[in-house]
Amino acid sequence: MQTFSALSRGQFLERLESEEYDLLVIGGGITGAGIALDAVSRGLKVALVEKKDFSWGTSSRSTKLIHGGLRYLKQFEIALVREVGLERAIVYNNARHIVRPEKMLLPIVRNGSLGKNMSSLGLWVYDYLAGVKKEERRRMLTKEQTADSEPLLRQDILKGGGMYFEYRSDDARLTIENIKTAFSKGANCLNYVEATQFIIDDNDRICGARLLDNQSGREMVVKAKVVINATGPWVDQLRKKEKGGVQGKRLHLTKGVHVVVPKNRLPLKQSAYFDVEADERMVFAIPRGNVTYIGTTDTNYKGETSRPVATYEDVKYILSATNAMFPGQDLDITDVISTWAGLRPLIHEDGKDPSELSRKDEIFIGDNGLISIAGGKLTGYRKMAERTVDEALRSLRNTNPTGYKDIKPCSTEKVQLNGNFETEEELEKFIIDRTGEVKQIQLTGSEVAALVFKYGKDTDIIIERAFALYPMIQDPTKRIAAAEIWYSINHEMSSNLCDYFIRRTGRLYFERNSILNTYDWVGERMANIFGWNQKELENHIKEFEFELDDVVSFKSEEKVSVA
Ligand SMILES: Cc1cc2nc3c(=O)[nH]c(=O)nc-3n(C[C@H](O)[C@H](O)[C@H](O)COP(=O)(O)OP(=O)(O)OC[C@H]3O[C@@H](n4cnc5c(N)ncnc54)[C@H](O)[C@@H]3O)c2cc1C
Repeated sequence: MQTFSALSRGQFLERLESEEYDLLVIGGGITGAGIALDAVSRGLKVALVEKKDFSWGTSSRSTKLIHGGLRYLKQFEIALVREVGLERAIVYNNARHIVRPEKMLLPIVRNGSLGKNMSSLGLWVYDYLAGVKKEERRRMLTKEQTADSEPLLRQDILKGGGMYFEYRSDDARLTIENIKTAFSKGANCLNYVEATQFIIDDNDRICGARLLDNQSGREMVVKAKVVINATGPWVDQLRKKEKGGVQGKRLHLTKGVHVVVPKNRLPLKQSAYFDVEADERMVFAIPRGNVTYIGTTDTNYKGETSRPVATYEDVKYILSATNAMFPGQDLDITDVISTWAGLRPLIHEDGKDPSELSRKDEIFIGDNGLISIAGGKLTGYRKMAERTVDEALRSLRNTNPTGYKDIKPCSTEKVQLNGNFETEEELEKFIIDRTGEVKQIQLTGSEVAALVFKYGKDTDIIIERAFALYPMIQDPTKRIAAAEIWYSINHEMSSNLCDYFIRRTGRLYFERNSILNTYDWVGERMANIFGWNQKELENHIKEFEFELDDVVSFKSEEKVSVA
């Protein structure tokens, strides 16, 4: 069986040009990935193109929670909270290797946004709407119990707390697993291919798109009966290319920033969701491996969409909110290892501030038949996909009333994503079994677990590769890294260091310091596999070094503001 390999890109491109598709999905974030999987699972012929790497947009820059959005209850978005709340368990069941249950502490503080009774009621409603299992329902805590759960919390204003259930994930990996699953069912998914223009037929309907291969610069055409615009923050840019342009509702972009600090500078016992003293917002602090990440901000954004960055002001805001809630830590700008910034593709509502804008998704149909989907949450991607594919089917059946009779209804509730385990027991047993088998290549149990929570059952492919590289590569850490690099190219369409370090492994954000000494070596391994010459290797390294600096670019602003 053909794998989802960057080395097979030429063949995938050939297929793109030579075949006609029922559906062309533009945009390889979680929304487009979910749509591709839904459509191909129903039996439609699907192509997906992404102008940069899969999940390069917002879908690698979120808070990485599969959550119901507790704060939307305050805005009475009951239907939204119910839908995404219910989705949590489905996404967990379908991808438990990358969607992990996470206890969340909601401290109740003096002059906080919610008092004890409101917090208790709010959390109860939250659980009720999401149909949470009895053993996972919220538990209200006394002041002492709350302080016990998280001793770093500020004590003088603490009144109690609520402990409730959410799920932690990895947005970029959730996206790639959706894409890989869609690929395994027959969808043709390509990164670094940009839709530049629509092709219009005699009936004034979109029947395909002009594409640009951003790796070779080659232009081509793809034929498709229906085209879906799932380009997140770029939805309106693409709508403008259609007759009539952006009519009616339009996008409203807001920026959200996260900062990463070493775990020993904010050694939380567990995740927390707490009030920001300076305004009415709330932020998350989430331990992950050797770091804790904190966010997010929510500010109007009118800048360059291709490079949102965390500013000095954004970082200061998050650090002072954190220091106000965990005063003993006294976090400073020098503690920040890295940051990321993402753009929320929300629907504009007159007179509303960023945090007041609804997170609901909406579908727009253009004059030439372009189906655009905007708004929404990572958590709700599956339902968004279902609604969008239903709309696409209506369009297909309108133009061909006798066709598409055998197309099945949405089935993704039961579609296991690539690498998944059916049960927790199966997952645990897999880790134990593999730990026993990998002693010869000097992998520890926790290293095996780290692989499993990234790649699921595909860990076996990486382990097999690591055995093949033994004893050629003596250093066990390098050996497993070499196997991961090989896997990301041959099974996940990684084309360069940025794909590997940012979106396949998350290492730029969460392990920036440790990769400073290894990225050259990673570049050389990639050069060997792709056959890059010295100049090409240098260009790839430079491109990655730009990203390495970008995640700490707020530090240079600090110097400017001090001077
Ligand atoms: C700071 C922040 C925190 C968040 N936290 C959470 C959270 O914890 N939980 C949650 O459920 N949701 C969260 N969200 C929301 C969630 O991340 C987004 O709703 C979701 O990622 C949007 O995905 P998307 O696929 O629509 O857009 P994107 O991920 O941006 O994907 C769109 C893609 O389209 C591509 N594209 C654009 N133009 C073209 C073209 N012409 N041709 C080809 N490709 C093109 C882009 O390169 C991009 O990769 C958060 C959002 C932000 C900003």
